[in-house]
Amino acid sequence: LVELRGVDKHFGALHVLQNIDLTVRRGEVVVIIGPSGSGKSTLCRTINRLETIDSGTIVLDGVPLPAEGRALARLRADVGMVFQSFNLFAHKTVLDNVVLGQVKAKGVKPAKAKEIALALLDRVGVRNQADKLPAQLSGGQQQRVAIARALAMQPKVMLFDEPTSALDPEMINEVLDVMVGLAKDGMTMIVVTHEMGFARRAANRVVFMDGGQIVEESDPETFFTAPKSERARDFLSKIL
Ligand code: ATP
Ligand code: MG
Repeated sequence: LVELRGVDKHFGALHVLQNIDLTVRRGEVVVIIGPSGSGKSTLCRTINRLETIDSGTIVLDGVPLPAEGRALARLRADVGMVFQSFNLFAHKTVLDNVVLGQVKAKGVKPAKAKEIALALLDRVGVRNQADKLPAQLSGGQQQRVAIARALAMQPKVMLFDEPTSALDPEMINEVLDVMVGLAKDGMTMIVVTHEMGFARRAANRVVFMDGGQIVEESDPETFFTAPKSERARDFLSKIL
């Protein structure tokens, strides 16, 4: 469903993505893990073209990512993204946060969009917060709204960039549980996280990045118990 071939990117002199090859099949959950600065966020951002690439190709559901214009906007709608900071519209209600994109970008009728939004808020467990403003919710609740908002666009793939790293410990699981549920429902997901529990519960594959390269790809069990590379062993010894 998502295919990167020979993707390179520089930030000035920094070679932040080096010849990245990555294939994510439909329904697969891939966890990306690696040290700070290894290029994980940049990789995510190239997949919905928040970042341009210098060379290589990115193919989404059989279609090469277009450089710009309407075709790009359409393709981007197929990629849902959830960030560390929730990025909700602060002055809109929770419900409007999930309704607006559908109406504006997809042309869904407002009544229908509201129905979809309420169902999604129910699914992530915050339907009873629908009329509040984001600031009135806990971090975990806000992040679940952000997930509902991304899902409302009916994406083909969901990207998560450290979705729980800004949360207090007691709220991490309520967000991870929603993500595990999505994975079980067959959503294709690319997840940057250091949450081993999530990787073990939901990931089909762990991709370890270091210095702009994919150093290792393994199933979670192998990765956490017997990583193949020295660099992965070293990294795991620091975070576990
Ligand atoms: P973290 O775990 O800290 O989030 P990361 O693996 O997500 O790290 P990236 O954010 O992808 O890493 O950054 C990779 C490298 O690219 C870092 O050295 C970072 O400083 C650099 N970088 C990221 N964005 C830019 C930018 N817009 N301009 C210049 N350099 C950048
Ligand atoms: Mg990052």
